[in-house]
Amino acid sequence: MCFFVTESPVPATRRSALRAAAGTERPVRCGGCGRAYELPGWLALTLVGTLTGDAIAAHVVKWPHGVRIEVRRCARCAGSIARTVES
Ligand SMILES: [Zn+2]
Repeated sequence: MCFFVTESPVPATRRSALRAAAGTERPVRCGGCGRAYELPGWLALTLVGTLTGDAIAAHVVKWPHGVRIEVRRCARCAGSIARTVES
C-alpha cells in the first residue's frame, strides 16, 4: 500500500499583505461582523493604533515605503479592523 504526502500550500500571508496595500481605495470590511466602511466612515472610527516602518518590517519581508497600517475599532461589533494607508 502506498501513501502520498502532499505538502500544504505556502501561506498567503505575504501576498495578501501586498494586495491589501494595493487596494487602499476600496471599502474596508470588518472581519468580525462584515460591515463595510468607505473612507469617510473609516476615518470616523476610533483609532486604536498605527503600525509604521520598523514595526511592520519585523513581520513582513517586503513592505512598500511610506505605507502604514491603521487599526480602528468597528462601530458595530467593536472588533479591530486594519487598513493600509499611504502617507
Ligand atoms: Zn464589526
